[in-house]
Parts: sequence; structure tokens; C-alpha cells
Amino acid sequence: MNRIDREIVAYHEAGHAVIGYRFGQRFADLSIHSSNGREGFCHFFSGLSNPKHAALVLLAGHAAEKHLCQSASKKPSRSDHRKICRLTGAMSTSEFKTLLKEADDLVAANWHQIQAVAKRLLEEGMVKGGMFAEIIEARDSNRDG
Ligand SMILES: [Zn+2]
Repeated sequence: MNRIDREIVAYHEAGHAVIGYRFGQRFADLSIHSSNGREGFCHFFSGLSNPKHAALVLLAGHAAEKHLCQSASKKPSRSDHRKICRLTGAMSTSEFKTLLKEADDLVAANWHQIQAVAKRLLEEGMVKGGMFAEIIEARDSNRDG
């Protein structure tokens, strides 16, 4: 992966992780390395029972890519897309658009936290769950930093 790709993957995974965290989801680890070399991964301990929250966590990966650079890929990753479709298949187009907007807003509101996690991912390649909570809570208490 080149530098730009690495950065996009880091922000994508950080987007999933930070928004999942906001909905109370905890995870084991987060990485920018994966077997297919294109995507990282975010291993959550458990899913979310609210399908809308689960869809927002999935959408947050791509939303973070878009927030980082407008030239990021036009579509969510294929595996995210499949899961999003399963969760939102019964929604109307306008409901889905509202959800997309909500994911963008969540990413914007949590951008400092996403940046802090992505930065650590780029430095170390992986972030463990406990370390992640520390990074995000340090950011929460230091909003100006
Ligand atoms: Zn993803």
C-alpha cells in the first residue's frame, strides 16, 4: 500500500471504531493490515442490537474516508456494502439518505477522536481495545488539543 492508501484505510477503520464506541460497542483490536492488503479490520467483541446504530457504524468507515479527502473511493467497501444492504434493505430511499447524512454528521462531530485513532494506527499498524479507550477519552477531555 502506498502512503495515501494507508491513510485512507486508517481513517476508514478509525471511523468504524469511534462511532461504534459512541454506541457502546467495544472491540478487541483494530488494524490497517489484512490478508487482502486493501482493507484493514475492526474486530468488535459484540454486535449492536439496534440495526440503525449498526448501519451507522458500518457507514462511518466510508464517511470518514470522504471527510479525509473528497477523492476517496465513491462507494463503501464491498463487505461493508453487503452488510449495510442487509440492515437497510427495507428502508425507503429518503430514509437511507437521512441515515447517510447522520453518519456524515457523526463522523464530523467525532473527527478529533477519529484523527487521533487513525494517527496511532498509522504509527503502529494496530490499536488494541484498551489503548483505544485511552486515546479517545484523552481526546474527549481535551477538546481544544
Ligand atoms: Zn469498513
